[in-house]
Amino acid sequence: MTSRIGVLALQGDVREHMVALEAAGVTASTVRRPAELDQVDAIVVPGGESTTIGKLLVTFELLEPLRKRVRDGMPAFGSCAGMILLADRVLDGTADQVSIGGLDMTVRRNAFGRQVDSFEGDIRFVGLDEPVHAVFIRAPWVEAMGDAVEPLAKVEDGQAAGRIVAVRQGPLLATSFHPELTGDLRVHRLFVSMVREA
Ligand code: GLN
Repeated sequence: MTSRIGVLALQGDVREHMVALEAAGVTASTVRRPAELDQVDAIVVPGGESTTIGKLLVTFELLEPLRKRVRDGMPAFGSCAGMILLADRVLDGTADQVSIGGLDMTVRRNAFGRQVDSFEGDIRFVGLDEPVHAVFIRAPWVEAMGDAVEPLAKVEDGQAAGRIVAVRQGPLLATSFHPELTGDLRVHRLFVSMVREA
């Protein structure tokens, strides 16, 4: 059976993820309401603004259904704001910041600071032969994580060297950067293979 992958379509770079998933050979659909969530086997939480997406999750009555699906083992991939939303703990969030959770880790929002608030660089990614060109836009990093979380990529140079920027825990995948913006489909293909495994 072919897997149906949804892209949470409340705010952020929804289109770019849809294009990347289709290019990776899967049928993708947007998810804005609980009935649409019921139709998919996995979800991508896009980059954008985690506080805005969080508020809209409450308004659209998707927060609890998403939490439940993730708890029940639905594969999910979050980029940037999506990583923040999949983290169990958030530093430098707003007072009313909500999370879907699932990844046993603490992320810091806007972690790279004003001087380098957006930047690009090539970084090694566990399981991929060639480095990934990573685009960071007011990105979070992983500040702490539980034993079940596997680090997949780190910043390699500069002041943030060593900071973890991609992780996997079972069927959950998250990147601080935006694979959907570069035309490199390898991270989306990794997620598609995780969905097929699940
Ligand atoms: N800084 C944003 C947030 O806190 C994330 C930025 C992004 O997704 N490019 O949600």
